[in-house]
Amino acid sequence: MAGKALARELPARAEAGKVLQSTDDELMDVVAAAFKVRLRYFGRRVKLNYLVNIKSGLCPEDCSYCSQRLGSSADVLKYTWLKPAEVISSAEAGVQAGAKRVCLVASGRGPNDADITRVSTAITKFKEKNPDVEVCACLGLLSDGQAERLHQAGTTAYNHNLNTAESNYKDICTTHDYADRADTVQKAKQGGLSPCSGLIAGMGETDEELVDVVFALRELDPDSVPVNFLIPFEGTPLGGQWSLTPQRCLRILAMVRFACPDAEVRLAGGREIHLRSLQPLALHIVNSIFLGDYLTSEGQAGARDLEMIADAGFTVEGADERTLPEHRRDLVKVRRRGAGTALPANA
Ligand code: SF4
Repeated sequence: MAGKALARELPARAEAGKVLQSTDDELMDVVAAAFKVRLRYFGRRVKLNYLVNIKSGLCPEDCSYCSQRLGSSADVLKYTWLKPAEVISSAEAGVQAGAKRVCLVASGRGPNDADITRVSTAITKFKEKNPDVEVCACLGLLSDGQAERLHQAGTTAYNHNLNTAESNYKDICTTHDYADRADTVQKAKQGGLSPCSGLIAGMGETDEELVDVVFALRELDPDSVPVNFLIPFEGTPLGGQWSLTPQRCLRILAMVRFACPDAEVRLAGGREIHLRSLQPLALHIVNSIFLGDYLTSEGQAGARDLEMIADAGFTVEGADERTLPEHRRDLVKVRRRGAGTALPANA
């Protein structure tokens, strides 16, 4: 599988399933194979991302894993849109701690045009002061033209996760569907934003469903793939669901690395509580983590993350280093058909 990944070939479904079913005796071989791929495309660099929750709680949607969902009794912070100055100062705190990308996240089904204006204002001002820092927006389902507006404001990327397999989606959310999510990832891409889309493991899904969502992500070809492990908040339908082990988390991360070898695979929410003392092993598979706290839960202190990276022999990726390998530029095909050309739209 490492050989295929190094040739950027998709593994067979059965091979991906075998990674998930590998034994504990085989685990270090799996990690070592995934490390070969990580090393080829990302060296020993770890990219740091920093989350800013710019609107928290009180969401009308019912995603069952989410502490901000409709009817959640989880005791999370609830507030409406932060002012641009507050967004900027929170984001700059992450930059000072070493983050190369700040992720501005808002609860809700999706932004209206006034919300896009509000977020764009904050992003443009932030980028004026911090031109080298990447900004990712995560605002929910996008309508036509909104990705383009965010792009014009200086936004680098847009996050919208597929979360789980299409066949499983209705079991985790009834207020929007999988197709809505995939559509937003496409809109982000078409609007000029670097697509970021990943999954949440540990919601009761089967191995088959995990392979499904990872292969669907590979089809969408996001530049970055956050892998979350369910944080089972009390007060949500999935509260108390603890099905993951540190070893299973490593197998899931390795499977994602084999399927998306040259994408930024980001170890996201739940790493501390599920991987626990095996977190440094995960750095051999992923090339990106969130620094410090998550949206509504506390993570490991940023200083401990930096210590862990150094202890495991990795280095923090600098602002002047490319994250994605050079060849991924080839995947961006300059449009040469349709409006403004002599060729028909489908040539
Ligand atoms: S994941 Fe997003 S859309 Fe779903 S309930 Fe949470 S904040 Fe709302």
